[in-house]
Amino acid sequence: MPEIIEVKNPATGELIQKVKAHTEEEITGAIRKGHESFSAWSKTNAHERSRLLRAWSDRIQKNKENIARIMTLESGKPLTESLAEVDYAVSYIDWYAEEAKRLYGRTIPAHTGSKRIVVTRQPVGLVAAITPWNFPAAMMTRKAAPALAAGCTFIVKPAEETPLTTMELVKLAHEAGIPEGVIQYVNGLGPFIGKLFTDSPRIQKISFTGSTEVGKLLMKNSAATVKRISMELGGHAPVIVAEDADLELAVRQTILSKFRNAGQTCICANRLLVHESIAEAFSQKLADSVRKLKVGNGLDEETDVGPVINEKSFDKIKEQIEDAVQKGARVLCGNTYRADRELGYFFVDPTILGHAKPDMKIMQEETFGPVLPILSFKSLEEAVEIANSTPYGLAAYFFTNDYRTGIYLNEHLDFGIIGWNDGAPSAAHAPFGGMKESGIGREGGLEGMEPYLETKYLSIGNL
Ligand code: ADP
Repeated sequence: MPEIIEVKNPATGELIQKVKAHTEEEITGAIRKGHESFSAWSKTNAHERSRLLRAWSDRIQKNKENIARIMTLESGKPLTESLAEVDYAVSYIDWYAEEAKRLYGRTIPAHTGSKRIVVTRQPVGLVAAITPWNFPAAMMTRKAAPALAAGCTFIVKPAEETPLTTMELVKLAHEAGIPEGVIQYVNGLGPFIGKLFTDSPRIQKISFTGSTEVGKLLMKNSAATVKRISMELGGHAPVIVAEDADLELAVRQTILSKFRNAGQTCICANRLLVHESIAEAFSQKLADSVRKLKVGNGLDEETDVGPVINEKSFDKIKEQIEDAVQKGARVLCGNTYRADRELGYFFVDPTILGHAKPDMKIMQEETFGPVLPILSFKSLEEAVEIANSTPYGLAAYFFTNDYRTGIYLNEHLDFGIIGWNDGAPSAAHAPFGGMKESGIGREGGLEGMEPYLETKYLSIGNL
């Protein structure tokens, strides 16, 4: 185990800060503290929990610029995106601060006059979260806010690449008056902390956002103590552009979906399926717009697309492009790079690949980079078949102004999130999550509180 985690700027390779990795003793100590704090926090009344969440939200908003800057430095994303992410992160806290007051139970008419049936909700206990580097703030708050609102205590392990944002958010939570044992972070390597979390009987629930591979491992390891689990895993989002689509809108929204955070979001467009009658025109329009995107350091105001997070990611993206080109894809723009393995920064120019085929790696694997392959289809049935031919089922998008086409696609696509003429569907008040191997459970909306609650059924007899 390393004693120190070096947090580096992915745009330059420069060291930003050295962060102490927690020892096993410190991590089990934090778990114990979280467990002990549960009793008092779960009994704190819902209006008080709501007030404390609002105080946390206020502090984050006051520190917005600072948090956004930290986020850009450690994750590489453009500053405008970091500022937007702070708003998005806060929107989860605001939403669940309200929902805390609506943890309703119910009564059920009994089958005899001598009984009453009452259903109440109670928090599951201590929750452990493991979060990724692509949204260092929002992935944390969309777990922490419903957990705290429900009355759970919370401990988070941020990604090794981006611990600083989380550390800042937890500090602000404490300053806002949320007790120290109620929300904590621990730093260190994923497999090490993951095992301590899953093995601990004090932790009742694991909430994870990251790769499907790690999610499956956590699910397996959680079985020993029958932990509740929420999994937000990988995606491989198709974008279907129907014959009648508004091409300008489809180009704009596809760019928004694909190139945000340099293509490193789990709901990023990963495959573009365009009707054959418009494939050529659409591809050219898209490539013309994509060529204008500016690649650079996220702190530079001009930057649209920042670096990819690390060498491993860079190599995977390059390999997918090479595989596609070798199998006959045509490069419409991009396939150029600026990288320095020695210093440790990796930029990939936004790349559009025409004439893609289903057997290319990029059509099967998640890319997590600024590359988009285009494939043409003849019928909607064919488009749906290609779109669904993946173990993933997180997000899918389509563009059409024909309501019959829209309804047909919505009903036949096996994905948890559907964007119809919309490339940016995420919102704190709506349920986000995947079907198939993209995950279990939903975050956001009413559904996002459920995973943090147990249902208790009380039967009163002999009345
Ligand atoms: P990515 O490929 O996007 O980095 P990962 O799933 O590897 O996705 O990482 C997401 C989070 O999971 C990070 O916080 C990382 O430290 C953590 N992680 C990685 N491996 C494990 C593991 N074996 N057990 C628990 N957490 C892990």
